[in-house]
Amino acid sequence: MARLRASWRTSLPVAQQPRNPQSESIARNPYQITRKHEIHCGHRVCGHEGKCRNLHGHAYVIHFTCEAEGLDPLGRVIEFGVIKSHLCQWLEDNWDHRMLIWAQDHMLDELRTIDPSVVAVPFNPIAENIAAHLVTRVAPDLLAGTPVRLVRVQVDETSKCSAAYYV
Ligand SMILES: [Zn+2]
Repeated sequence: MARLRASWRTSLPVAQQPRNPQSESIARNPYQITRKHEIHCGHRVCGHEGKCRNLHGHAYVIHFTCEAEGLDPLGRVIEFGVIKSHLCQWLEDNWDHRMLIWAQDHMLDELRTIDPSVVAVPFNPIAENIAAHLVTRVAPDLLAGTPVRLVRVQVDETSKCSAAYYV
């Protein structure tokens, strides 16, 4: 009888087989949420082979993807407004309608003399570095005290080109 029951169990589809409590305890919450926000920034890419080394700008669309350990009582990762008030608002306050220039760029001092609103960033401002900076440097402090963490950022420079960083 025991042997029969065992073979019956293994013939079930995977979704109906008894679960292993050990693997359940390390399961990740499978839900993510993403909110996007558009900002307008100038930049230039030091060392670029072509015209991106010139001062120019983009209408950046930044996609923030967050995860949480569990869901709230309504079944949400978090209310979207929290992402807006923490992450999107940071973009508005710090980068929107400003020039992002690498702190090691030889043009930085001169540009800041002309316009003190120029932002010195600690990286060559390509989309990959912008995404990584937001995930690793900016978000941890901004989301401290909330149940979510930022796990992925996608930066669209144009409708055709984007870069992403995820953890
Ligand atoms: Zn560019």
